[in-house]
Amino acid sequence: MSEPLTCIGCGKHPDEIDEYIECAAEEGMSPVQYVIEEEGTYDKFEPERFYCTRCYIEAGMPLIGGEHMEVREISVSMLYTKSLPNYENLKLEAGVTIALAPGDSIEEAYEKAWKLARGQVRAQIPARGASPV
Ligand SMILES: [Zn+2]
Repeated sequence: MSEPLTCIGCGKHPDEIDEYIECAAEEGMSPVQYVIEEEGTYDKFEPERFYCTRCYIEAGMPLIGGEHMEVREISVSMLYTKSLPNYENLKLEAGVTIALAPGDSIEEAYEKAWKLARGQVRAQIPARGASPV
């Protein structure tokens, strides 16, 4: 029950939804064309599907880019600064990007990314000749 070009909420095709029929007529387009080009929810929540205005409101107006959207990668970066006797400032930077597979937990991925970033920063400390305190 996930036909392309149907509303995620009511399952209707743009040709069956008055708002698209009217707007498309004004723009001189077909309702399908109007949805693809003008409907902000098209392809954002489910591939090639959209929310008609009524269903979008009923769904609680989910945010595009919010938790309903699939996150494909996360990245963290860490900057570590320390004053040293022999260095004016020791600045270490680490950035980690992790690709997510569908269904991966974002919290776990962040945990893993921070762990890697911290590890990277720690690994750089002896390499820069800083004496352990
Ligand atoms: Zn609908």
